[in-house]
Amino acid sequence: MQPIVVIGTGLAGYGVAREFRKHDRHTPLILITRDDGASYYKPDLSEALTKGNAPEDLVKKPAARMAEELDIEVRADSEVSDIDTGARTVTVNGEALAYTKLVLANGASQLSVPLGGDAVADVHHVNSLADYRVFRRDLNGARRVLIIGAGLIGCEFANDLANAGIAVDSVDPVDWPLQRLLPEEAGRALQSALAEQGVQWHLGDTVSSVERDGDGFRVSLSGGGEVSVDLVLSAVGLRPNTALAEAAGLRTATGVSVDRHLRSSDPQVYALGDVAEVEGQFLPFVMPLMNAARALGRTLAGEDTPVRYPVMPVTVKTPACPVIVYPPRGAAGQWQVAGEAPSLEARYVDAAGNLIGYALTGEATGKRGQYMREAPPVLG
Ligand SMILES: Cc1cc2nc3c(=O)[nH]c(=O)nc-3n(C[C@H](O)[C@H](O)[C@H](O)COP(=O)(O)OP(=O)(O)OC[C@H]3O[C@@H](n4cnc5c(N)ncnc54)[C@H](O)[C@@H]3O)c2cc1C
Repeated sequence: MQPIVVIGTGLAGYGVAREFRKHDRHTPLILITRDDGASYYKPDLSEALTKGNAPEDLVKKPAARMAEELDIEVRADSEVSDIDTGARTVTVNGEALAYTKLVLANGASQLSVPLGGDAVADVHHVNSLADYRVFRRDLNGARRVLIIGAGLIGCEFANDLANAGIAVDSVDPVDWPLQRLLPEEAGRALQSALAEQGVQWHLGDTVSSVERDGDGFRVSLSGGGEVSVDLVLSAVGLRPNTALAEAAGLRTATGVSVDRHLRSSDPQVYALGDVAEVEGQFLPFVMPLMNAARALGRTLAGEDTPVRYPVMPVTVKTPACPVIVYPPRGAAGQWQVAGEAPSLEARYVDAAGNLIGYALTGEATGKRGQYMREAPPVLG
């Protein structure tokens, strides 16, 4: 029997394998990954210092254990370079592998901002356990770190590094952290809380160059400032890995375009996780991919099941000022903010006064249950 093939062993790849096996114990399933195939929970990466975890502590199970437990084959250190939807094969390390159905769970890559200087190659990006191992190796002994990007990942790392006693500089052209997700009052609450932990903000500014300077780096800012640090981390956003799908002629937009059955423009090819855009929604978070994995596990086993996205708030792991945000999706509306910083309730309401998004900070995050009940689902 020819196998179902999954590209990727992140939360999406292993998630769909686990769900599929609940409904089908016999169809061969092959997961291919260019990393070592270890199962880990990616959100742990940005709170490992606070929790006292070394990179090796974050491995839940090595690839061999996953293969045994799920009765699957895991091909680690294997790169898919081509998909032929006509022949229904993928090319893995130069060899063709036939599939009956193919699942793209090949994630996204960190974006880079254009930088000058002789140390651009030394700037870290963390979007995998392998990246994180390198980051922690180079962080050893570091006393000051500059983070490019004050979005979700940048703020989480800022808090985690500060908790470990490392001085942090955060640079972003925005006016307040998490500006794309939060109203100003909520962003300012987070900004103040992290400043109290020692984070130095360089907002409304950008990094122009990174130069080697002894054992560390000299970072020049467009506004004219200069900062000397031991390490530079870039966290400026993600781009879904759509190149394989595009080359195969599959429809893509921000991610690989799939319908509510996670089906792409080729009916034998599916996608979920950070590579996918489900009904026009690109949601690179854990809850969407878990819901997608549950539905796709059934669909692959022959029981066509559309994905449902409930209310899926994102918890920002900044213990200095906890944040829960449920971003409004496209619809016009306005923020209404109540409370006193750092504990704020921000409601995003449409013209009729209906709640269509929210952000909670500080102690107001305790009201998460109430807001979950009131807000509309992402895809009902
Ligand atoms: C630091 C950090 C903290 C986060 N915190 C949170 C959080 O608190 N809450 C939340 O909801 N989300 C969080 N996220 C986002 C969340 O972790 C991701 O949405 C999720 O892990 C994506 O999983 P994935 O399986 O789609 O992709 P990935 O984990 O990126 O997996 C992609 C897989 O595809 C493989 N692959 C790629 N290309 C190829 C190829 N050509 N051939 C073979 N294999 C290939 C890779 O080897 C890998 O196995 C965080 C992300 C980061 C980086």
